[in-house]
Amino acid sequence: MQIKLLLASALAAEGAFAASAWGQCGGQGFSGDASCPSGYTCTYSNAWYSQCLPGSSNPTTTARTTTTVRPGTTTTVRPGTTTTRTTTSVVSQPTSGPASSITVYTKCKQANVLAVTFDDGPATYQQSIIDQFAAAGGKTTFFLNGNLYRCIYQGADTILAAYKAGHQIAAHSWSHQHMTSLSASQQESEIKKVDDALAKIIGAKPTYMRPPYGETNSALNEVARKLGYRAMINWDIDTEDWNGKTPAQSLAKFTAADTSGHISLSHENYQSTVQTFLPSIIQYAKSKNLKLVTVGECLGESQSLWYKEVGSPKGKDSTWVC
Ligand SMILES: [Zn+2]
Repeated sequence: MQIKLLLASALAAEGAFAASAWGQCGGQGFSGDASCPSGYTCTYSNAWYSQCLPGSSNPTTTARTTTTVRPGTTTTVRPGTTTTRTTTSVVSQPTSGPASSITVYTKCKQANVLAVTFDDGPATYQQSIIDQFAAAGGKTTFFLNGNLYRCIYQGADTILAAYKAGHQIAAHSWSHQHMTSLSASQQESEIKKVDDALAKIIGAKPTYMRPPYGETNSALNEVARKLGYRAMINWDIDTEDWNGKTPAQSLAKFTAADTSGHISLSHENYQSTVQTFLPSIIQYAKSKNLKLVTVGECLGESQSLWYKEVGSPKGKDSTWVC
């Protein structure tokens, strides 16, 4: 006779992983959990966040490496023998380091929110975007290039202001090429150069990326994953500001959509997008009781997951050039 033991489902929710060493673990404006790896303590680091720093371990913190088992896994044990046969695979899911896979998202995981996003910055009108969201009480996500319309270092002060204000800073490649046509080493360079610049400018490297033109594939996803990225973010509403649509035509795409939680694409380098479309979409969101959120919030991921290798902004030096 066989005894079947049904192992309890222990699959950790994606957003429930503990903060990694050196990761943000809480603090002003951050909703991340306050757990750190063994040997690290969640310590208030500066005006904006707390950070897992080496120190006395949190006595309530348990082991950080969790073995997770897919729900429904069965283990078959033959009485009287010492043989244990596992009939399905066991998945080992580390709680820090690179994600085991990258997810490509095009819309939010919750309704009644709107993740309006801005690509191709830093560009001329970024400060106006920050000001408008501050007045409206909402948040946005900036997918930044290293060197497209402006060198990222020339926009450093505004990028840091956006980060401090709680907007999400995410990556859009260094020079906005068709990434899937590049070699793996070229892809890596395009990603790492933005990471390194943002580490200097805001003190953190992002874990969310939008590939230029929305073009990604499994090879690019794997390069990004190895560099610590956890999500590729595309969109399900394209304002087509890049394609000559007027702000009114862009707005019509939202009014025609439902309120199931959309991620939209727009670009901060167009004056009409920032000065006409943005006020109109803010007004529309208010009229529909839609909360204007970052992509991370629209996906239900705590702020500690939006960045990796979190430290402090660095002083400007001779390396701040494109
Ligand atoms: Zn772009």
